[in-house]
Amino acid sequence: MNRLAYGMEAAEPPNAITAGASSPPPVCPYCGATSDGAGPCAACGGTPDEMSRQATQNEMGPWYIRDTSRPFLPGCRFETIARYVRAERVTPETVIRGPTTRQFWRRAASAPGVARLFGLCHSCGGSINPNAVACARCGAELDPTHERESLGLGAVRTIEAPTRAPDAHDVRPPARPEVNVHPEVRSLERSRDRARRQAHLGLAIGAVSLLIAVAALIRSFGL
Ligand SMILES: [Zn+2]
Ligand SMILES: [Zn+2]
Repeated sequence: MNRLAYGMEAAEPPNAITAGASSPPPVCPYCGATSDGAGPCAACGGTPDEMSRQATQNEMGPWYIRDTSRPFLPGCRFETIARYVRAERVTPETVIRGPTTRQFWRRAASAPGVARLFGLCHSCGGSINPNAVACARCGAELDPTHERESLGLGAVRTIEAPTRAPDAHDVRPPARPEVNVHPEVRSLERSRDRARRQAHLGLAIGAVSLLIAVAALIRSFGL
């Protein structure tokens, strides 16, 4: 494995091309597949010319349609989802994610703001008036337009272990909550903890050196 490819451990920047070394082949700007950059991409069919790039950029946004045949394409904007709904390329059963689903996958029929395009309430599944602001049956807000083109992520909160009533026979300390965190997030957390431990150690060493210095000072003045 070429360690330089990851750039982390390398003394030189990862993009530095040394004399005689062949540069890696370019990748498709739309799906990331290795591509010669001349004709259409063999993996996704996209052409890398300026006009196609701009057209794709114009369509980009925080909405994703689950498609195992083309899993690496960028997200699209809400208007693209709406257009696909009109063209029946997105149906109530299509699996999508976006700002109003907090980026979790869901059926389009239960995605706020998208379900209404099918004349459905995302919350109770009932039929709705296309112009209604809220569902007449369950009261759910139907059109959270303010979240359409941002990622729509919720606030970062500490994950608490589920509390349970204390048991008289059980005095074991509560187990650490088992939560499924993405491995990348875990490694970030680990390096943050390491940095915090190092900072504490530094502080302790600083305090001890200060004490020694003061003691030496007191001795030298014969106090
Ligand atoms: Zn491609
Ligand atoms: Zn409803």
